[in-house]
Amino acid sequence: MNNSLLVELVCSRCQRKFDPHLVHTVCKSCGGTLFSTYDLERAKSDGVRALLRNRTPNMWRYRELLPVYNDTNIVTLGEGYTPILPLRHLTSVFKAKSIVLKDDGLIPTGTFKARGQSVAISKAKELGIERVVLASAGNAAGAMAAYCARGGVEAHVFLPKDAPEITKKECLSMNAHLKLVDGLIDDAGAIVTALAARNGWFNMSTLKEPYRVEGKKTMGYEIAEQSEWKLPDVIIYPTGGGTGLIGMWKAFKEMEEMTWISGKKPRMVSVQSRGCAPVVRAFQQGRESTEKFEGAATIAAGLRVPAPYASEQILRVIRESRGTAVAVSDESILVSMTRLGREGVFACPEGAATVAALDELFANRWIDKDENVLLYNTGTGLKYPELIQVPEIEVLKNEIISNTAQ
Ligand SMILES: *Cc1c(COP(=O)(O)O)cnc(C)c1O
Ligand SMILES: [Zn+2]
Repeated sequence: MNNSLLVELVCSRCQRKFDPHLVHTVCKSCGGTLFSTYDLERAKSDGVRALLRNRTPNMWRYRELLPVYNDTNIVTLGEGYTPILPLRHLTSVFKAKSIVLKDDGLIPTGTFKARGQSVAISKAKELGIERVVLASAGNAAGAMAAYCARGGVEAHVFLPKDAPEITKKECLSMNAHLKLVDGLIDDAGAIVTALAARNGWFNMSTLKEPYRVEGKKTMGYEIAEQSEWKLPDVIIYPTGGGTGLIGMWKAFKEMEEMTWISGKKPRMVSVQSRGCAPVVRAFQQGRESTEKFEGAATIAAGLRVPAPYASEQILRVIRESRGTAVAVSDESILVSMTRLGREGVFACPEGAATVAALDELFANRWIDKDENVLLYNTGTGLKYPELIQVPEIEVLKNEIISNTAQ
């Protein structure tokens, strides 16, 4: 079945067009990121929005607007359509109108990286790619390993040597070939670039491959559909490589063009850790792209991206949406994990960073009391077992147990 309305790929810098039936990385002329364009007129006239009602609750419900032509190529673990939860406690603490959390802690592989990899590996299969490689801070590698295993594609992953242990184990359990690098994600990236060509591996690294961002785009579609096509005033998103932010914004523009939504689009807030805040710094300095953030260090592994490849796009989205960028401390991230814990959500530190940003945004009235705010939790706290520090906990002695039981 041919459901996708994908038309072509267009370079974000020089607008050169590319045939989506061929394998591509970045623009051959200028190195810009390639973005998928769809026949949105057709999606509108075919009434795709109304068709959604009868579809299964996962992200492939938007398949006309995803790049896989043949359904048999879809590699899925049932990802997407995660809940949007009202945060009653935080809403009352900030005396806000409404603060909700879109919770991707409930997705296969435990982080929203599954969305990007489901689409990217599906499209790789469709294009006949058999071996892929990725440099990652951890979670993207785990997700790629899972979808490669599912789809029968050979996976090679390169992680910083101090990437979370759990993501290393995740990759190995899913039979990926894992190598550790003495450095950060951009050092791993440099090695991958060199090895990919030599070994005939396709490079899946962030925004050097056109389709992961299409998977991330579904976050935007889901937010709209789950909110009865009325978007929140503000979306707060933890930013590393930036595909999430760029993807959601692309979704909003597509939906606007199809008249699925109307009115003001959300102001997009990018949150980073003070230990690695290239986007926040560039935003505050009025720059159009980031400069490498030296000595990057943060407990939020997914935010440890000192030089995001698509920084121009990230900054453009923040400015175009009249959003902002906020840096928060690792200490406030840890405290925020327990604040979300009060709502029954065990979030990853990246997701908790969005809560940490609320203090500043409400204090300086960047967010008004009558605005609807959506926080994006990008993954589950269960993927960060080493992060939670607990005091020594008393172990009850056997006598006490038998005495009590009598
Ligand atoms: C990768 C990652 C991020 C950053 O996402 P981008 O869309 O690349 O900016 C945030 N949170 C988690 C848990 C991640 O794994
Ligand atoms: Zn170009």
